[in-house]
Amino acid sequence: MSILRNISSFVKDARVEESLSAILKQKLKAEKGLRAIPKNYFYVTHAANPAKFYWEQKHSQVEKTDKVNRKLLLGKRLERIANSWFRSLPDFSVEEGVLDGVWVDIPGVRGSVDYRIGESIVEFKTKDALPEGAETILEKYPQDLEQLCFYSILHPDNPKENYLVFMNNTKPYQLRAFKITILDHGRIKTLLKGRLGLLKKAIAEDNSSMLGRCRYYESGCEYCDEGICECSKREPLSTDSLRKAVEISFDEKFTSELEKAKNAQKDGSTFSIRDVIAPRKAYLAHKDLEDSSNWTSDPRKEEYLASLGNVIRKLSLNPTNEEIREVAGQMKEKRLRIPQKWMKLKSSGKENGEIVPYLVKVSSVKDKKQATRPGDYHLTELAITCAAYGKSRGMIFAIYPEMGDSIRAYEVTFNNINGVLKYARSILDSLEKAIKTEDLSLLHPCPQFMSDGGKCPLLEQCSKDLLRGCVATESAIADLQAT
Ligand code: SF4
Repeated sequence: MSILRNISSFVKDARVEESLSAILKQKLKAEKGLRAIPKNYFYVTHAANPAKFYWEQKHSQVEKTDKVNRKLLLGKRLERIANSWFRSLPDFSVEEGVLDGVWVDIPGVRGSVDYRIGESIVEFKTKDALPEGAETILEKYPQDLEQLCFYSILHPDNPKENYLVFMNNTKPYQLRAFKITILDHGRIKTLLKGRLGLLKKAIAEDNSSMLGRCRYYESGCEYCDEGICECSKREPLSTDSLRKAVEISFDEKFTSELEKAKNAQKDGSTFSIRDVIAPRKAYLAHKDLEDSSNWTSDPRKEEYLASLGNVIRKLSLNPTNEEIREVAGQMKEKRLRIPQKWMKLKSSGKENGEIVPYLVKVSSVKDKKQATRPGDYHLTELAITCAAYGKSRGMIFAIYPEMGDSIRAYEVTFNNINGVLKYARSILDSLEKAIKTEDLSLLHPCPQFMSDGGKCPLLEQCSKDLLRGCVATESAIADLQAT
């Protein structure tokens, strides 16, 4: 039996919470009436390095150099390793999902934060060399500083104290955390809005002169190497306003907490729920093979996720930070990294409400008859999330764009949550062993729809020696027929 069928067989009940579904639909409709979500938007990273984005969209066919590719892959790998250190911090929480400027009156920009520790936003960066202090950050990495400051502006809470954490990209992976205190939110907001305006103007007029020099000009950029950009003629963007708006200080305490967390986790490998569902994909990522399906995002889907996530947060069912800390502390499987979304679910039996995990999903289902239960993938995701925290109940909020933006709030209960945890753990054990021994046969194939339309780089390998990947190749079929 496939993993999806296997785990979804633990579902005891998955029923639509009609009242919650209706409230959400009304709220979404009202919000949409108030705010016109722009069709085109920039990401925060574009605003923090506008010249780079300008040349990227103008010459999208330029391939990244091997050096740039290697750096990107190394960065992703180190992020995976560091993830477990952040997760082990007492105040850790993740707010997965998109920050959309439309909710704070800056339409046309989006971004997503790395971590939240307590109230603060944390941005993590790997570098060849660690910055000594504030001046190095402002001189060499202003794009990282701006990115973090822009997130703080886009977050509805506007957190004042945030952190920029740098890690050396060679062993022993030394860390340096800087506290970034926003002294003047208005100035940062003006900077972000101004940058968005310049980007729009530059693209409309096909003129890069107002965007300054790409901030990767000196550290390696394919557009510079190919002589495509005009950065050699440009001055670096000014950091004068940024300097007046923030205070940067090395945070010894946070650095040492992170160093302790790093040293406490020798192996440093954590896995997502997607890795459990598709362990061969996780194997691929650990071998640093490019998996294009990992990084593509669908803007329309992101828009729906942001809108629905936002109205859910406004339901006033949010637990307090203390309650979140308590429930997060009950995590039973430290190898799993799970984006945490919690809500206090009211029910007649539990007066104060029960804190349960929830997922926000966009469904491509078109037929109302099929929209009576979440899909097996989403049920599996929720089952593993619940099992990891010892919860037997959770919620899935799904929006159906093909059904007139219909919303379903599914309350899902599970039968044997310990059984789910045991099953997930056995996959994690196999995954660790497969990565160590380079033996793909220890892992079950991914669900078929994850083969990236047959372009998955492991397709041949998965199908050879009768390993039977998600899609059988011609050679594998021939091999099978020969047996
Ligand atoms: S070929 Fe299929 S089973 Fe193999 S890694 Fe790719 S998606 Fe997974």
